[in-house]
Amino acid sequence: MSNAASNGEGKMSLTAKVIVGLVAGILLGLTINILGLNPAGGFVDTYITNGLFHVVGKMFVNALKMLVVPLVLFSLICGVCGIGDIKMLGRVGSKSFGLYILTTAIAIAVAITVAVISGIGSGMDMATESAFSGREAPPLSQVLIDIIPNNPINALSEGEMLQIIFFAILMGVCILMVGKPAKKLVELIEVLNEVMMKMVTVIMEIAPYAVFCLIAKAMANLGLALFAQLIGYVVVLIAVLMLHLFVVIPFILKLFSSLSVTTFLKKARNMQVFAFSTASSNATIPVTLRTVTERLGVRNSVGSFTVPFGATINMDGTAIMQGVATVFIANIYGVDLGLAGYVTVIMMAVLASIGTAGVPGVGLIMLSMVFAQVGLPLEGIGLILGVDRLLDMVRTAVNVTGDAAVSCIVAKSEGKLDESIFNDPKAGVVAGVDIDHDAEKELADVAKG
Ligand code: ASP
Repeated sequence: MSNAASNGEGKMSLTAKVIVGLVAGILLGLTINILGLNPAGGFVDTYITNGLFHVVGKMFVNALKMLVVPLVLFSLICGVCGIGDIKMLGRVGSKSFGLYILTTAIAIAVAITVAVISGIGSGMDMATESAFSGREAPPLSQVLIDIIPNNPINALSEGEMLQIIFFAILMGVCILMVGKPAKKLVELIEVLNEVMMKMVTVIMEIAPYAVFCLIAKAMANLGLALFAQLIGYVVVLIAVLMLHLFVVIPFILKLFSSLSVTTFLKKARNMQVFAFSTASSNATIPVTLRTVTERLGVRNSVGSFTVPFGATINMDGTAIMQGVATVFIANIYGVDLGLAGYVTVIMMAVLASIGTAGVPGVGLIMLSMVFAQVGLPLEGIGLILGVDRLLDMVRTAVNVTGDAAVSCIVAKSEGKLDESIFNDPKAGVVAGVDIDHDAEKELADVAKG
């Protein structure tokens, strides 16, 4: 067994197992699709792909989502309380905001440039597959108003990330202001945070099987035939996504933090597979937070803010899709957007990403906001609808990698990155879930009173 596939103890590491699950799922799903084994209502469709695989995959995604809200709340309150210097909060906020906007703007500018040069879509004449009803961009004023929850319980139950972030930061700051009497509360929240992190580790243990199911189902249902018709769009989009992942993000990481790009990319792999299979930055928050703090050495005081903030406002991969899709559809309809049009697209895409959360398929809704702004026909989106589910997976992996890179840069600049953890290949590796039997007994005694 190679080093990459082992954790040094002759056992396969979780990342290796998840990747095996991913590849096996792709192969099985494609085989089912190519052999036409899953006609709707048939045995395979009913009991396997939309039965077993669907149930296991959904249960896993739900388990991850279940942790997002309590994890963000507790870790962010702990983060603020442990920050040590309240002014740092403002700096972390503005630095991460600036970097998120910068990376998104670069992503879409590169996407538009490559797409224009490649000329995708020109001379094509395609009938739209299905109608797509778009949405208007929320005005900036509403985005700002919505940051403040009028009911924090509502915000928590709806998973409104920006509202939860606002509430948690304010609560953390006020705990600091209350001072000594709040000591017990801080200790309690710290323990709750630790318990949540342990839950993430436990749930990650089943990831290899869940990833297998999620991918096998997606591939069996979608197949690759759809891609043939849109090959130009798919190839240019994937090429720009890979360029961003392996050139732009590493370049920005090196430039602003001089951290090792290879170590970063190696440790990001696991998180990328989670993002890829769930197609949701939000559902991946628990894994991103764990990767950033326990594998990459970012202190919780920074990571607890930058990760959920990034999952909400930073979507480099989605911005790239919007850039490529805009050029593709403008070319198909013979619309010349001109420089001003493209600058509008860049601004709209950046703004739209701030107001929308990272959940599956949201990229298309953002695209409809961009189209409405530059006057492209919304039904053009119907053309790319069919292939979007699989492309969503790839761009979500790019989105979370951007979140992790910015977290490292900001933490490094604030002296909140533990380089011994960053450089230790084994730091934070999930190596089975152990139960300390003595502690178990002691706790049972406490619980019995
Ligand atoms: N699924 C993406 C995410 O969660 C958003 C999108 O591009 O649709 O980051």
